[in-house]
Amino acid sequence: MMKFVDLVEQHLDEIAALDALDVGKVLSQGKAREVPFGISVLRYYAGAADKIHGKTLKLANQLQGYTLYEPIGVVGHIIPWNFPVGMFLFKVGPSMAAGCTMVVKPAEQSPLSALYCAHLAKLAGVPDGVINVVTGYGPTAGAAISSHMDIDCVSFTGSSEVGRLIMQAAATSNLKSVSLELGGKSPLIVFDDVDVDSAVNLALMGGFANKGEYCVCSSRIFVQEGIYDEFVTKIARNSKGLTVGDPFEPSTVQGPQADKAQYEKVLSYIEHGKRQGATLLTGGNPCREKGYYIEPTIFTDVKDDMLIATDEIFGPVMCVIKFKTIEEAIARANSTRYGLAAGIVTKDLNIANTVSRSIRAGIVWINCYLAFDADCPYGGYKMSGFGREFGMEALYKYLQVKSVVTPVHNSPW
Ligand code: ADP
Repeated sequence: MMKFVDLVEQHLDEIAALDALDVGKVLSQGKAREVPFGISVLRYYAGAADKIHGKTLKLANQLQGYTLYEPIGVVGHIIPWNFPVGMFLFKVGPSMAAGCTMVVKPAEQSPLSALYCAHLAKLAGVPDGVINVVTGYGPTAGAAISSHMDIDCVSFTGSSEVGRLIMQAAATSNLKSVSLELGGKSPLIVFDDVDVDSAVNLALMGGFANKGEYCVCSSRIFVQEGIYDEFVTKIARNSKGLTVGDPFEPSTVQGPQADKAQYEKVLSYIEHGKRQGATLLTGGNPCREKGYYIEPTIFTDVKDDMLIATDEIFGPVMCVIKFKTIEEAIARANSTRYGLAAGIVTKDLNIANTVSRSIRAGIVWINCYLAFDADCPYGGYKMSGFGREFGMEALYKYLQVKSVVTPVHNSPW
């Protein structure tokens, strides 16, 4: 695994370029952030592989025992297109460290980096049959994994609709274990006491990173009334400064949406927002002559039941919403079927503690956003799924516990 990590690191630039080519990810960001982070995750699990321990058990009735953590077996990984190489490394790392073999299906939009990484694994000496990449469409190749009788566990990241299908297929085939990382509609709550300029920049980063094609993106920004007007003026101004363009250009901040279907879906949500009476503060249009480019788009005067406030849009569309009290912020932030992530911006420790404990989401960022780490578990509450990526939690998804029991002395057992 260490050799594999080193080879991925040596080919970082090519891997970032493959994802830029496949789904319009900004090359400079892939090189600076996503691929290095994927490498750190793979390295973390390479280091964890020889630190998997069972327990000794002191049992009643003159028995003693111990637990063995064994690989769960063959793992199926079904991967989305928004972080192709990231997801590949996040999933392969822990399952490989657990000693499993795997079938990996990248998304049909973005198979290149997974194929390239599998090639690097082979060069590193990973035996044939350990990492098997099968490209193909969801209802055929993906469904073959989730319904297969010889696959023991499926780890899926993608939409809630497909997550449901995968659980059904697992249930009606061999009852394989399932972990799901699904959609989100994450709140970022900005309180009165903060520096507005930094809060605006955090909101823009959280909402528009990876062109909004990010399950944790902060698509609902709740802003306390005392700074609301200033926040709105500044976020409108700053969002116009984000350069949308060719993902291979160093000056680009936001690339094109991944494909035509995604582009049309985002534009139709913008139309819903306008039709349902939200105010279009900025953006809202396709941009550049050719390609699936959309302006960073911000709505205000958004009601909690409008489609732009309830649905995961998966594009550069953000709602800025005014609130008065901490109780109101908590209630409205939680009034979503999702529970993936949340952010809080405040200098007040009591507010930060109260809100972080009250939000039903798998990760809460205080005075930061998108702050991931290989050692920090991450995953969903509610309809955002279950099971965790990263940390030792992800490794233990791919292990099962066997208890071995024996009498201490010759005994009637
Ligand atoms: P998105 O909406 O982000 O495109 P999807 O949930 O449709 O996400 O796709 C994520 C992954 O799930 C892709 O690899 C896709 O091919 C796969 N997939 C789609 N439909 C199914 C299905 N019925 N069974 C298994 N996998 C599927």
